[in-house]
Amino acid sequence: MKDLHLKKARQIAELVNSKQIKATQVIEYFLKRAEELNPKINAFNSITSELAIKQAEEVDKQIMAGKQFALAGVPIAIKDNLCVESTYTTCSSKILENFKAPYEATVTSRLWSAGAICLGKTNLDEFAMGSSTEHSAFGATNNPWNTKMVPGGSSGGSASAVAARLAPLALGSDTGGSIRQPAALCGIVGMKPTYGLVSRYGLIAFASSLDQIGPFATDIEDANLLLSVIAGHDAKDSTSLHADFNYNKLTQNKDCKNLKIGLIKELMLTESNASPELVNAMNMAIETFKRLGADIQEISLPLIAEHSLDVYYIIAPSEASSNLARYDGVRYGVRDKSATGINSMYSQSRAKGFGSEVVRRIIIGTYALSSGYYDAYYKKAQQVRRLISEEFKKAFQSVDILLSPTSPLTAFPMGAKLDDPLSMYLCDIATIPANLAGIPALSVNCGFDSNNLPIGLQLMAPQLADRKLLETAFVFEQNCPQAEKIPALAL
Ligand code: GLN
Repeated sequence: MKDLHLKKARQIAELVNSKQIKATQVIEYFLKRAEELNPKINAFNSITSELAIKQAEEVDKQIMAGKQFALAGVPIAIKDNLCVESTYTTCSSKILENFKAPYEATVTSRLWSAGAICLGKTNLDEFAMGSSTEHSAFGATNNPWNTKMVPGGSSGGSASAVAARLAPLALGSDTGGSIRQPAALCGIVGMKPTYGLVSRYGLIAFASSLDQIGPFATDIEDANLLLSVIAGHDAKDSTSLHADFNYNKLTQNKDCKNLKIGLIKELMLTESNASPELVNAMNMAIETFKRLGADIQEISLPLIAEHSLDVYYIIAPSEASSNLARYDGVRYGVRDKSATGINSMYSQSRAKGFGSEVVRRIIIGTYALSSGYYDAYYKKAQQVRRLISEEFKKAFQSVDILLSPTSPLTAFPMGAKLDDPLSMYLCDIATIPANLAGIPALSVNCGFDSNNLPIGLQLMAPQLADRKLLETAFVFEQNCPQAEKIPALAL
């Protein structure tokens, strides 16, 4: 079958379920495509052909026996910080270079039960720390819209793979924006669900109170389909919620009457802080919602705008310094053989195995947690985090959805921010607040700049209003003709 890569995940599943094509034929097509195109964008750390063929044969066998699957034969790319049993799971770090996951993450085991096929493991900023996928021990990933540009990060490999149509779906993780920001920079859909809606069991932890797994897709309906497969309570994750996601297809609303949308005043772009094209794309998106009958109001969230970044860069590194203490070179990964004693073996192995950004985070986090500084930094940050959640709660008493740009910038050139961590951190100014408050947020394409680089619109909703969020984005997407554009490299 021709042009399978231009089909939606749901269309592939239907073709496979109705026996018009075999899962093994689908995966052959996508494996060949990944082999041809991956060298141009370096989206994958590994391509799991053997596993993929085995899984596809099993799906075909079960379909012949009369079974039907939500994601029958749909190839999916998995961020390389998720454990897929017996596959390399590296977090794009030298310290885990040879680590093969000894067990399966809950999300991936749900995917395989739903008939999806593991195409490969995607590149990321080491341990998911970054916004450009340049901090990878295995080389940077490129943006399919222009390979000289970054794809965003940290789930840049997943975003780039879906944008280049190497896979119709991918999974990423989002601690401060790592699904939404690369989705915006690559012109696709990316969603961070409510904290606790999707199990984190088998996700290699960065900052456990912020990490959340979520979908990448080329449109909202596919993102909803993927989320409905992975969402739901899991006894293996103590932070997993007992709430159920509405697993049905999205309702096809024609308008946004009865919907109140708040524009976050402090995050709105103006010609003094962003390019005119970005400002214009945001204004057009707001106009679209107005035309659809939404009640639009400006809303001021001063605390969120001013303090989210500071709070995040205390809490995330603190949790990371504790989570990453387990990498000591003893059982797997890099070990410095020249060390002469146990302490030097630990410290030299860690110095060799971790990249500079990870080291920076470990040092900041260790400092913030150390006695004498704990109250001034970590405790204070937790208190402000609470106030941030309350500011969101108050806002959601008067509006249903909050709107902002996903990123203040479109894709930037490789290397442009590598020596300036602060300017890299600023990429996440609009995405971090949702992680601190645990609320769902997504990014959907809303236009292009004059260099033909995509622009993302961010929508946020109250905790567990994931469904409402998707339905709002669904109406928007159907009224945004650019949403369907595909990079030339992918055609
Ligand atoms: N870019 C942010 C950071 O570097 C967020 C990363 C993420 O969401 N994993 O921490």
